[in-house]
Amino acid sequence: MTPGQRAEALIAEFGISSPSELDVEAIACDAGMDVRYEQLDGCEATLVGVNNQAIATIRPSGNRGRERFSASHELGHWIMHRGKSFRCRVDDQSANLASDATLEKEADSYAAHLLMPRYLFDPAIRSGTKIPTFKHIGEVAQAFEVSVAAAIIRMAEVDSLPIIVACYDGRGIRWRAFAPHVPRRWRLVQTLHEDSFAYDIVNGVESKQCSGKQEAAAWFSNDDAESFEVHENAMPSRPGEILVMLYLSDTEMFESPFERRSEGRYQDNPSFGRRSR
Ligand SMILES: [Zn+2]
Repeated sequence: MTPGQRAEALIAEFGISSPSELDVEAIACDAGMDVRYEQLDGCEATLVGVNNQAIATIRPSGNRGRERFSASHELGHWIMHRGKSFRCRVDDQSANLASDATLEKEADSYAAHLLMPRYLFDPAIRSGTKIPTFKHIGEVAQAFEVSVAAAIIRMAEVDSLPIIVACYDGRGIRWRAFAPHVPRRWRLVQTLHEDSFAYDIVNGVESKQCSGKQEAAAWFSNDDAESFEVHENAMPSRPGEILVMLYLSDTEMFESPFERRSEGRYQDNPSFGRRSR
């Protein structure tokens, strides 16, 4: 089973029928892991386990979504990586998307599925308008007590909508996640295009979320991008960062999964990418 399948199987055992029942501490306790909230130096969370009992210590952040994600992440380590101790640096999946640490990504995947199991999360995200707005996503994130960044990454992973989500700052792209059915040939721009709403937000022209139709050429570096339009949703995130959700409503963008490039080779674009610094 994948980490996500293991998490969702555990949730199914509890017969949970609404996000308010996703009590991470209680689920962890049942698995023999006690969750404590205490100050930590140099990391966000630690896990120490002996035999069938473990203690996860989470640094209080004042943000319940991040704390829940950390607790679920440590539960993932406890369930999947037993016998090891962990000191985890991050409390949000987006930061690990920019790393290569396999065990950390497994624990993140476990946490995302535990907090946003498909059978509860997917109907919630699609309960609004056809194209979800950040307002709606924010409400769903609140109901599931997760960060908006964690929610949009999960939205892409669930793969029921034609979306690409990403995070940019003034220097360029920080991370991206493609819904698996979106062709990888679409190459996201490395730095924000001045025509995008996200560009206006990062440069202080706009201060809140923006959405609307947008030339695909503002978002993709492909030569044929100018023939298409996408729906862009952008919102400020952590200081200096912008979350972006591109909704690919033009079905023709799905019809040509391969592109001939000058060297005649298909350029792969991994679903989870990172920027080298
Ligand atoms: Zn970890």
